Amino acid sequence: METVKEYFGSNVFDDRVMKAMLPGNVYASLRETIDEGKPLDVSVANAVAAAMRDWAVEKGATHYTHWFQPLTGITAEKHDGFISPAPDGGVILEFSGKELIKGEPDASSFPSGGLRATFEARGYTAWDPTSYAFIKGKTLCIPTAFCAYGGAALDKKTPLLRSMETLSLQAKRILKLFGNASVKRVITNVGPEQEYFLVDKKLYDQRPDLRLTGRTLFGAPAPKGQEMDDHYFGVIKPRVAAFMEELNDELWKLGILAKTEHNEVAPAQHELAPIYSTVNVATDHNQLTMEIMQKVAARHGLVCLLHEKPFAGVNGSGKHNNWSITTDAGQNLLSPGETPYENAQFLLFLCAVIKAVDDYQDLLRISVATAGNDHRLGANEAPPAVVSIFLGDELTAVLEAIENDTPYRGTEKTQMKLGVDVLPKFNRDSTDRNRTSPFAFTGNKFEFRMLGSSNSIACANIMLNAAVAESLRIYADRLEGVEDFETALHDMIKKTIKDHKRILFNGNGYDDAWLAEAEKRGLTNYRTTADCMPHLLDQKNVDMLTSLGVFRPEELTSRCEIMLENYCKTILIEARTMVSMAKTQIAPAVEGFTADVAQNAARKKAFDGSLPCSYEAKLVSELSALTDEIALKTDALEKAVSAAADVADVIKQSAEIRDTVLPAMDALREACDTAETLTDKKCWPFPNYAELLFGV
Ligand code: ADP
Ligand code: MG
Repeated sequence: METVKEYFGSNVFDDRVMKAMLPGNVYASLRETIDEGKPLDVSVANAVAAAMRDWAVEKGATHYTHWFQPLTGITAEKHDGFISPAPDGGVILEFSGKELIKGEPDASSFPSGGLRATFEARGYTAWDPTSYAFIKGKTLCIPTAFCAYGGAALDKKTPLLRSMETLSLQAKRILKLFGNASVKRVITNVGPEQEYFLVDKKLYDQRPDLRLTGRTLFGAPAPKGQEMDDHYFGVIKPRVAAFMEELNDELWKLGILAKTEHNEVAPAQHELAPIYSTVNVATDHNQLTMEIMQKVAARHGLVCLLHEKPFAGVNGSGKHNNWSITTDAGQNLLSPGETPYENAQFLLFLCAVIKAVDDYQDLLRISVATAGNDHRLGANEAPPAVVSIFLGDELTAVLEAIENDTPYRGTEKTQMKLGVDVLPKFNRDSTDRNRTSPFAFTGNKFEFRMLGSSNSIACANIMLNAAVAESLRIYADRLEGVEDFETALHDMIKKTIKDHKRILFNGNGYDDAWLAEAEKRGLTNYRTTADCMPHLLDQKNVDMLTSLGVFRPEELTSRCEIMLENYCKTILIEARTMVSMAKTQIAPAVEGFTADVAQNAARKKAFDGSLPCSYEAKLVSELSALTDEIALKTDALEKAVSAAADVADVIKQSAEIRDTVLPAMDALREACDTAETLTDKKCWPFPNYAELLFGV
């Protein structure tokens, strides 16, 4: 049997394959494109394409596709065969450099938010050589960016690459000020921890809500939920273990560094974490991971739920985005250094992040906003919708000492003057953990914890990279050319701490007292997607994102529209699914059971002449009242849906849905869930929470 070492990356056209298959000069030139972003020569592209084709065909591939990430949030592919007719009636297998570099899918049905009229529907895809091509099934997949003619980005990769570029540029300016001019590139690294649920496929198939919306829209709590904490890190059941084993194999073949797996807090909930990689690659890999999780689950008679809140009453699923910045030489810029000099540089990068997160709290909230994730943020299981930073006691004390010109407790009473030779060495305290902070410093990286489980991690990292690049730009503008660098540096760090310390919070983020405190501090608290999304177009956000070249103004307008449309459509589909389930499944089930009970009472009366016993009488009257209630609430929801569906302006529509449809959904659910607790289980039209959560 092949060992992991042998088959790891076997389906990837990675550096090992390139080195082995490409002529030396072609390889060198491609490496320059990958590592330094140098433009690619056509002759090089032709040579690479030929090698890719030979390699892929050898591995049984028959087709190739440009693989891209449109604004739907999932990946897209359109397969083309390698075959081309030969004069002798046979075929030859062709794949040119041109086909590698550029594709023209007729992609008129992808959301563009008005960026592209249908009459000029042809977007084009462009090869991203920084993410390796790979084979999925019988298809060679080439990671690409997706743009409209005219260059406007129609995808998530393009702005992500731009954000990496601008962060690299600004960080290099800062490094130069610290005497480090040899760095060619500064890189963002990301390790996304992915949560998910596994449910039995046979049970899943019986629930229209799961099939149509990915979450349960009804369901009384099971007698047992997550209160015993016996699932978290518990022994993995054989069926789940078999799933995980096969998942790992598939991911490893694709060169995805799946590393850690464990049971999560909620029953049936699990997590997978890869080893971190460059954010662009991490994003591609996370998209692939989500896709392959679902495929592998199906082979095991399971369904992998990536929805943020598949079940009420137990934890939902998120994604922790572990983020750091390093140089191409491997120096982690968020790692406290060995010498005071390195520490001054570390503190500046730390301050850049603090300033970025405070200045652009709204953008970070927006970057994780979806109808699904709104159920988690602020629901005592995930960080609140308020963004804040956890630094831990030691770093907080260092910053306080700098701000107040007081001695830092860890040193021999030296003042925290940032004169680079006075700053103390401080320890990286890895025991200092806080699980409730949306944005936590964890020793040498930040962990952004607000992402939803189904979100592409691109959005969060675009905003993070851009906001930090903006801080660095402002710092570099101020520091370049000053006479007394050390004093200027000290003053600037001090000013950042003073101006932005409101964003620092080491306490319990799940506490209501924190929300009150956050409001006093003037931090934003956008509870829903409808609340936050319009702020994407606030002038300060547009200015920052466009001046750094991460987005064009029209790309932002289009994204705001698409995200809000997505919010509205998602909730309207959920609401319509509820109406249909209530009318055609739940109400008839309750009605039928009520009739059975009434009939029993009548039979009993005929038998012994007594009055119906209080059990039946009470049950019948309770159930009848609930049936009326269900009918009433269904009506109300239907009305709310049709009123909201008619609102043309998407900002108004999202607000209306938030204010009328969501409460009407809650009201209908409450009546139905109560009815479930009183109805004979045999009559209930679909599997209940206990079966779903403990059925694997
Ligand atoms: P946790 O305790 O939160 O599970 P881990 O130490 O297991 O944290 O790491 C979680 C994720 O963070 C992994 O994907 C890991 O590869 C990633 N990670 C570790 N170091 C870095 C770093 N310097 N930059 C980015 N991600 C990192
Ligand atoms: Mg974590």
